[in-house]
Amino acid sequence: RMLPGDPEAGSRLRQVEGAVWSPVLPTPVAAPRLLAHSAEMADALGIDAATLDTQGFADVFGGNALAPGMAPYASNYGGHQFGHWAGQLGDGRAITLGEGVAADGRRWELQLKGAGPTPYSRRADGRAVLRSSIREFLCSEAMHHLGVPTTRALSLVATGDAVVRDMFYDGNAAPEPGAIVCRVAPSFLRFGHFELPYTRGDVDLLRQLVDFTIARDFPHLGGEGEALYAAWFAEVCTRTAAMIAGWMRVGFVHGVMNTDNMSVLGLTIDYGPYGWVDDYDPDWTPNTTDAQGRRYRFGWQPRIAHWNLSRLAQAISPLFDDIAPLQAGLDAYAETYAALDRETIAAKLGLPDCRDSDVERMQRLYGLLQAGEVDMTLFFRGLADLDVSAPSLAVVAEAFYDADKRVRLQGEFDAWLQAYAARLVDTGEPDTVRRTRMHRANPKFVLRNYLAQQAIDRAEAGDPSEITELLDVMRRPYDEQPGREAFAERRPDWARTKAGCSM
Ligand code: AMP
Ligand code: MG
Ligand code: MG
Repeated sequence: RMLPGDPEAGSRLRQVEGAVWSPVLPTPVAAPRLLAHSAEMADALGIDAATLDTQGFADVFGGNALAPGMAPYASNYGGHQFGHWAGQLGDGRAITLGEGVAADGRRWELQLKGAGPTPYSRRADGRAVLRSSIREFLCSEAMHHLGVPTTRALSLVATGDAVVRDMFYDGNAAPEPGAIVCRVAPSFLRFGHFELPYTRGDVDLLRQLVDFTIARDFPHLGGEGEALYAAWFAEVCTRTAAMIAGWMRVGFVHGVMNTDNMSVLGLTIDYGPYGWVDDYDPDWTPNTTDAQGRRYRFGWQPRIAHWNLSRLAQAISPLFDDIAPLQAGLDAYAETYAALDRETIAAKLGLPDCRDSDVERMQRLYGLLQAGEVDMTLFFRGLADLDVSAPSLAVVAEAFYDADKRVRLQGEFDAWLQAYAARLVDTGEPDTVRRTRMHRANPKFVLRNYLAQQAIDRAEAGDPSEITELLDVMRRPYDEQPGREAFAERRPDWARTKAGCSM
């Protein structure tokens, strides 16, 4: 079915009360063309390869047509942005096409990002530019392959239309090519979906939404009433802890951890100005608009997630007579995160268990990596090759960005390596066991900002092939992949500008 254009698009601005969603159709685009797709996601959805090449596929996933049974809508949510309540936000440039149950019984929601205005678009156009769409497409799948919970991406479609990003990006108002990502997840419900009815005192709607979420996305939870709600909240907390532990392990910085960007399924969602840590720096944020406060810096992610969960706890508190279960959920977050952090330490260092002394060991190492301006990914990957009988910084030489700092800190690094090697010898485990453990926890390939940027530059110049090539590398981030070493190098000097990319 072809869609009509919407002449009123973009002029609507309203508060939507008493409802969690509004029906809305994607706005057709000039010339939809598939630029890239995820074979794994297509497979999971039961879409065969021949279909992907058809114009019909590009039409549906570019927003020009609906497949049978699709009933598109945009959802309504609010959120705390940079620590302040921002009121109603909603899907301003995301439109859910519908959901389907795959052959294996898994349910997936399909959502277009950049398919035109919705009742929640406010003053913006509901469109997305190619560069931000490439970033979301690639990182969603890269995170999945890294084993970090995330929303997924099925397709990247060029629209053939130009998009002007004047208000949200850096003031640069030059037209850019537009694109649409189809992202996929069991649900796109965010903390902010629950906060909005709470702030409006609409407890009926809040309860309906919680009941719906539990029935649809947490059917395994037992009990009823407050006990069920408590179990649900606890699971949101522990899932969030697992997601954050994943981010910290691989060096991912989300960049906009507003409560409207926090999934109740504990999935990484809304890839905007995210970035990857190159040289280890807990104070780094890729978000240029957060440069002053650096609220969303790498090292703060665990505590910001806790703050966000507290906002969710507050939002659902009207459903509880006694708020002790909410505090228990938040405690479960902290405990789960602490336990996972210890697992991360053991895995990254290749140890069979994590002792208190290993926590200190890791703290000292992180301090050295920061002081020495050392690449996090290259360091841990290289560390797996340490010869425990003759430990030497040579195995991680490639990880240093500044030769002077390396020389200055050589003694401290050597001392650390000596103690670490002694600890490894003490485990009595063979090198191969340690190396395998480390290779599973320490990726060789991550989606460094400059790699994505190179694929973007090529795509903007008319050649989208590097998107697919990069995705292919990111498919096996823990494997050596001979011949692809160029994708596992230090950030080059020209890419030193430490900001990520905005939307
Ligand atoms: P974000 O910073 O991406 O999490 O977005 C915050 C809010 O702004 C959400 O309600 C988005 O839907 C909305 N928004 C962001 N970009 C656009 C856009 N191009 N058009 C309409 N709404 C947008
Ligand atoms: Mg968002
Ligand atoms: Mg965004």
